[in-house]
Amino acid sequence: MRNLIKGFLNVLYPPYCVICGDLLPIERWDEGLCIRCNQSPPYLTGNRCKFCGRQLQVGDVCHSCLEHRPVFERGVSVFDYKVLRDGIARFKFDGAKGDGDVFGDIMGKYLLENHRDWIEQVDFITGVPLHIRKEKERGFNQADILCKNVSKITGIPYKKKVIIRTKETTPQSKLSAKERHENLKNVFDAEDCTDRCILLVDDILTTGATLNECSRALYRAGAKTVSVFCLSVRE
Ligand SMILES: [Zn+2]
Ligand SMILES: [Zn+2]
Repeated sequence: MRNLIKGFLNVLYPPYCVICGDLLPIERWDEGLCIRCNQSPPYLTGNRCKFCGRQLQVGDVCHSCLEHRPVFERGVSVFDYKVLRDGIARFKFDGAKGDGDVFGDIMGKYLLENHRDWIEQVDFITGVPLHIRKEKERGFNQADILCKNVSKITGIPYKKKVIIRTKETTPQSKLSAKERHENLKNVFDAEDCTDRCILLVDDILTTGATLNECSRALYRAGAKTVSVFCLSVRE
């Protein structure tokens, strides 16, 4: 019976550590994390740009964000993408939705431990909308799963589909940084957000172009502040 139950849990929870990929003993399956990654998660450390989260020697804004200042108020990421590359691939491309629950839990705890001061002002969490075709292919939107779990841990309400895509675009991963900005012009729209403080969630911050355009749509819809929160940042 116990094995049957565990077999069922195996479908819901990953039998490997979502961060390092090590196989887990049965008693850790529902954690989704090995003891090492649970006790000392490989979070980003050091001095970080307040918009994109990239490492800095001095100051609080990196060269690239000084040149093209993001419209969002701040950006926080939890991990370096290099550490999570395989984990994110399993989550998104192998359709391992349970991995997203573990990642979302980690993100929620990270916010409570490190950013309690400003998250108290956040009215709701929302996610970056996925390409409609991609969501159909994948069967889920990764930002949606992360948002649900961040909301569960922090108690901040999650509002689904606040931002909508008004047209289909070329996937950002196929484009250069400059093309990414052009590709997304006027692609997003948002429902009324008058005077709301919003936490915008996604899995990876690369150039920040998508997050920037989504933030712009939220500000157009009346948002008071938009802060960005990502599972990982690509240096
Ligand atoms: Zn691990
Ligand atoms: Zn920056």
